[in-house]
Amino acid sequence: MKLCILGGGLTGLSLAKSLVKKGLSVDIFLSKKNLDFDSSRTIGISNDNLIYFNKEILDIKKLLWDIKKIEIYSDNLKSEKILNFENNNKTLFAILRNYELQSKLLTSLKKEKLCKFRNNFNYQLSSFKNYGLIINCENNNYFSKKYFARRLKKKYDSFAYTTILKHKKITNNVASQIFTKNGPLAFLPISELKTSVVYSIKGKKKINLEELIKKYNTKYSIINFGTSNFFELKSSNLRTYYHKNILAFGDLLHRLHPLAGQGFNMTIRDIQDLSNLIDLKLKNGLEIDNSICEDFQNITRHKNYLFSSGIDFIYEFFNLETKMNNNIISKSVRLIGKNKFLNSTFKYIANRGFRI
Ligand SMILES: Cc1cc2nc3c(=O)[nH]c(=O)nc-3n(C[C@H](O)[C@H](O)[C@H](O)COP(=O)(O)OP(=O)(O)OC[C@H]3O[C@@H](n4cnc5c(N)ncnc54)[C@H](O)[C@@H]3O)c2cc1C
Repeated sequence: MKLCILGGGLTGLSLAKSLVKKGLSVDIFLSKKNLDFDSSRTIGISNDNLIYFNKEILDIKKLLWDIKKIEIYSDNLKSEKILNFENNNKTLFAILRNYELQSKLLTSLKKEKLCKFRNNFNYQLSSFKNYGLIINCENNNYFSKKYFARRLKKKYDSFAYTTILKHKKITNNVASQIFTKNGPLAFLPISELKTSVVYSIKGKKKINLEELIKKYNTKYSIINFGTSNFFELKSSNLRTYYHKNILAFGDLLHRLHPLAGQGFNMTIRDIQDLSNLIDLKLKNGLEIDNSICEDFQNITRHKNYLFSSGIDFIYEFFNLETKMNNNIISKSVRLIGKNKFLNSTFKYIANRGFRI
């Protein structure tokens, strides 16, 4: 029986590729938005997720730029380093450009006989009656509004600004994040000559991004700034993951503040969980249908909720310090970060989520 995926973003395409690799037939319904590539966006994927992605989804090694160290600074401690993560010069995570990943997935899926692309997405349930399972990877389509509106939502009253810096050549494998008074600012290297920037700024829409970046940049000799983009930041957690044979997936299940770069990482872990459930069904000669939805929800929902809450806690933790106008929290974090056990635990969770 055919499976159907709604959405041709990173989530829909990665999931489709993993299903096709198992010999399953998949129809992907694309919306126009899926084909609008944003060149200013990059994504950090953790080491364990990369191993899984390269093996079970698609070999993307050529797209990756390795990050071997993460440094965290705070405006409140005169930009002093408060946390440092590294692992004997091993890769902690890698950065790649969203549109390069999306194009590679699209090109690869177009060559697959088991995969068909459909553009005429009409929202009549009758058009989907031949599918055993429909996996919805879009936030704003008919199904999302009708069946997946009950979410725990939060607006951060913030906007994330993204751009890419071109700079003079530098050994560039250290990512850094500064908790500024405006919000978290991340420098994410993508080559010796380019670094992507994500700046989440509270409450302001009209800002001079270039001036703000220059203010906090101590490392790069900037040549120019690429095009920039911005997103209103929200987080949400879906209460019920499925309706009949429609399973919600990706950002529709969990949307996070980007400060820890974990949104798509959570989705890769979900793909892994769904994939394991599918393997079990196939091994037992069973159809892939709506029965998998409840199992998937039971396995993932509590982990995802806990993880999202953890990211939100980090955001609120540093936000509180700005509200209190002191540096007690940064000083405590610096102390905690020096503890070897806690430092390794943070690294472990960022890499694997809540998986033993
Ligand atoms: C600025 C930014 C940086 C990110 N960096 C990372 C990262 O380094 N590593 C990682 O694993 N994930 C990261 N994410 C989350 C990741 O981009 C999404 O999970 C992923 O792109 C989902 O894409 P899609 O194509 O499947 O979904 P689509 O439905 O095609 O796209 C969903 C859109 O919503 C945007 N979005 C995602 N989260 C939020 C949010 N909280 N508020 C507003 N818009 C949002 C996505 O970026 C995307 O443009 C980041 C998100 C943002 C907004």
